[in-house]
Amino acid sequence: MLNLIIFGGPGSGKGTQSKLLAEKFQLTHLSTGDLLRAEMEKGSELGRIAKSFTDGGNLVPDEMIVKILASAIDEHKNANGYIFDGFPRTVAQAEVFDDMLKARAQKLDALFDLVTPDEVLIERMLFRAQTSGRADDNPETIKKRVEIYHQQTAPVLDFYKARSMYTAIDGTLSIEGTAQAIADEVAKLL
Ligand code: ADP
Repeated sequence: MLNLIIFGGPGSGKGTQSKLLAEKFQLTHLSTGDLLRAEMEKGSELGRIAKSFTDGGNLVPDEMIVKILASAIDEHKNANGYIFDGFPRTVAQAEVFDDMLKARAQKLDALFDLVTPDEVLIERMLFRAQTSGRADDNPETIKKRVEIYHQQTAPVLDFYKARSMYTAIDGTLSIEGTAQAIADEVAKLL
């Protein structure tokens, strides 16, 4: 088993890198953002509620996200390991996550933080907005998402630093460059 968190600000490349890594090491990629967007597309009650938060660049309430992620893990019980993308995004989620994994006889191996300056995040998201069709990729919401990242999400890093699970990765490299940097770190864990 290999259980990894891919961490970083909005636009840092978490989704792209998680997909590459999942393929390379045969892991199951669980993205809370993707899970939420799937609910929104289905037009479920949950999706409707989630949209009222994500559209404004706000985080979805912890209880809701924790429930969604727990059922996604349980739907992929036979995985070789998981890549968690976009979760945990608050210290409260990180705390619950520990118990959630323990209850499933699992543990985390590492967190990779895609370190990327705000200007780069904003520039990438504005570029992505041209084709993503995502309601939250507009200038005002992008600015809000970066603010929320610093206020509510970045503190999660201290939680994992204290547990010696933190590894910084340069998020400003090319897609391939960052992927290689992560793969080199994963190789050390195997
Ligand atoms: P990005 O990292 O580009 O913001 P994501 O797909 O990871 O994109 O997330 C999109 C939105 O979904 C977030 O802005 C947030 O509103 C919501 N979301 C995703 N994951 C979480 C989470 N773990 N906790 C709360 N909200 C979340």
